[in-house]
Amino acid sequence: MTAIPSENRASRQFGDSRPPHQVSFEFFPPKTDAMEERFWDSVHKLAPLNPRFVSVTYGAGGSTRERTLRMVSQVKSTTGVDAAAHLTCVGASRDEVDAVVRGYKEAGITRIVALRGDPAEGIGQPFVPHPEGYTSAADLVAGITRIGDFDISVAAYPDKHPQSPDWDTEIANLKRKFDAGATRAITQMFFDNGDYFRLLDRAQKAGITQPIVPGIQPIHSFKQISSFAAKNGAKVPRWLAERFDGLDEDPETHALVASAVAAEQVLELVDEGITEFHFFTLNRSNFVLALARLLGVRPD
Ligand code: FAD
Repeated sequence: MTAIPSENRASRQFGDSRPPHQVSFEFFPPKTDAMEERFWDSVHKLAPLNPRFVSVTYGAGGSTRERTLRMVSQVKSTTGVDAAAHLTCVGASRDEVDAVVRGYKEAGITRIVALRGDPAEGIGQPFVPHPEGYTSAADLVAGITRIGDFDISVAAYPDKHPQSPDWDTEIANLKRKFDAGATRAITQMFFDNGDYFRLLDRAQKAGITQPIVPGIQPIHSFKQISSFAAKNGAKVPRWLAERFDGLDEDPETHALVASAVAAEQVLELVDEGITEFHFFTLNRSNFVLALARLLGVRPD
């Protein structure tokens, strides 16, 4: 039986008295008016589920700096839900990154998802820090803690970050991020729960006690998600590809298979005692609303 760090373990008490699961939702800052309409439609449908927080990503190289701040501030002010701003340190000096952190602080944002980010050429290319910049996510976390009292989340990788040569390096890096002041990790998307449980085991053995929240990616489009996975180093198991094989022109069956796949993944995690989930929404609410319902999370 896989050992689950105590922070990640549920009471295993099922039935009506089971405590509600905690959820958080990730959005990206919309680029156009039409996308912004979908963003708000989804935010307004998901906010009543009372998530722990809603987070908004930070475009590659800080390209969405203003939009991320605007969306995070507006989510918080219009829905009352706590909002987290993502932040990366790629391609920027410490002073520039610190200015963004101060901007978050002035706007009343108290949660940051702190990431290194990737070079403009993609995750496959070596990361070269800005000459006056933060060198890694752990370094960035330490910088943020010097500016204010933020709740900081960091990234973890059930399939190992592509630039880590081995698991010891990977877990040592995760531990550095916690030691620098992170309060939780959120995982990259994964489709084999065994990989996530092995990550929890390795983290526990390294003395990590903070929660490592599974990042759940509903498969709105298998083609799109496979391409994201290829870019971020997540594995797409062959059995998953086979389930979607031949469904490109059959959206209805594709959606039904996607719901079944996500439900199976989430409910298996629940059976293993996981109580907290982070959903990558891609600014859509339908799959996430259904999955939250399976977790017993309903509008207030
Ligand atoms: P780090 O933790 O710094 O690690 C990156 C690599 O460097 C690892 O392989 C690590 O082992 C290695 N490393 C770090 N320090 C050292 C060291 N001292 N010595 C040797 N090796 C070292 N990207 C965006 O651009 N915007 C977003 O909004 C965004 N949101 C994300 C949200 C989540 C939940 C996740 C999982 C990822 C997100 N990303 C985002 C992607 C992220 O920027 C990339 O995965 C990036 O490649 C690594 O970021 P990190 O914070 O994990 O980096």
